[in-house]
Amino acid sequence: MKKTKIMATIGPASKDKIILEDMISNGMNVARLNMKYSSIEFCKDIIYKIRNIDKELKTTTSILLDLRGPDITIGKILNDQAELKENDKIRIYMDPILGDSTKFSVSYKGLINDVKTNTIIKLNEGLVELRVIEKGIDYLICEVVRGGIIYSDKSINVIDTKLNIPFITDEDKEVLKFATEENIDYISLSFVSSAEDVLEVNDLLIDYGNDHTSIITKIETKNALEELDEIIKISDGIIVARGDLGVEIPLERIPSVQKTIINKCHLKSKISIVATEMLSSMENNIIPTRAEVSDIANAVCDGVDAVMLSGETTIGKYPVGTVIMMNKIIESSEEDINYYELLDKAMRTEKEDITGEVAYSVVECASRLKAIAIVTPTMTGYTAKKISRFRPNCPIIALTPDYNTAHILGLYYGIYPVIIDETKSFDMILKLSKSAVLRKLKYESKDKIIITGGYPFKEVKHTNFMKIEEL
Ligand code: PGA
Ligand code: MN
Repeated sequence: MKKTKIMATIGPASKDKIILEDMISNGMNVARLNMKYSSIEFCKDIIYKIRNIDKELKTTTSILLDLRGPDITIGKILNDQAELKENDKIRIYMDPILGDSTKFSVSYKGLINDVKTNTIIKLNEGLVELRVIEKGIDYLICEVVRGGIIYSDKSINVIDTKLNIPFITDEDKEVLKFATEENIDYISLSFVSSAEDVLEVNDLLIDYGNDHTSIITKIETKNALEELDEIIKISDGIIVARGDLGVEIPLERIPSVQKTIINKCHLKSKISIVATEMLSSMENNIIPTRAEVSDIANAVCDGVDAVMLSGETTIGKYPVGTVIMMNKIIESSEEDINYYELLDKAMRTEKEDITGEVAYSVVECASRLKAIAIVTPTMTGYTAKKISRFRPNCPIIALTPDYNTAHILGLYYGIYPVIIDETKSFDMILKLSKSAVLRKLKYESKDKIIITGGYPFKEVKHTNFMKIEEL
């Protein structure tokens, strides 16, 4: 069983129960709902379906809601598209007008105050580029630096500019309330530009009485990258959002930023996720390009927690085929991970902590004995997360009576949660550990598993035992 997780975005191509079921059985661990394109009604339907599939398949699929964030969009354009020609002068209006190839409006009136002469504005995912040359009363005059097609309602990127737009929109507040009511596991934040933005969402969740939903910050602006360390510190994890980030910073910087983020997250015990265009040719083709296969393998070998699919599973022709392919690439790439290096790096930065010491020994021992699984009973998920940080070569089965803990753990490297009834009996845990492994993994007789946790259960706060069992 693979250890690097697959997060797949759900959209029109994957909304049917039968497709979702196929995606889950073939390796999707986390379902992402992108609020840029999904209504609350759509989300409710998908969440309902996934929770039913989980009951049927005895899986624990985690759910992430991706907030739209403060993005700025183009207004309506005649026939929904227009071609901008290089060197033409065009106007951007702050009030709604019907756009064409000489003018269009934007959803944010304050844009005119936030930009300066020479500010670069990118459209259509960076394909079209404008430069501000003059400000009118309620419009900007721009020169088309690179021409191309623009579309109604699509997002624009304003480069190197701090926008005075409130980070949490009314739309996002509704989504946060919905996430609270629906007991959603993760939310991810789009277009964060400072650590302050993340803290604001955290405060709002507290106001809503939500102590369950974890926060993943998307790094997709230059400003966020400048506050990376601070943002990692206060987030539960990070998405390397290569789509928008590749518009905001030079594309050729993406590989190094990705590596830096994965490494920093690992050192700080935070989740890392690599996103966008991982298998985008599979939106139309049944096999990926060699470059895409290498891209996934690289992220896996760097020790990422999860890799993400977007268009491939929302509008692509082969949502299930893409998950199967990604699963295969991950399984094969995991044979090439330098586990010792990741273990060593994690240990060198581990603070003095009993659970950490036991977790380290368990992972080292699992590797020497070629154990097929590490099993850990856990209430809060603390032990399982510690073991995951040491990046073992075998899956970590986390036995927990807590539904929320199980669903949070689903996004972490290597962890497969299994929901059990609460028990205080050590013998019962041994029995449940073996049966969970037999049910979840391929095994041969005499294969070894390592069971670790804190005993007496619920009484000790740290991990204090390690037991090796043969199947
Ligand atoms: P998006 O974010 O899919 O919501 O645009 C990811 C990215 O920008 O890479
Ligand atoms: Mn984005």
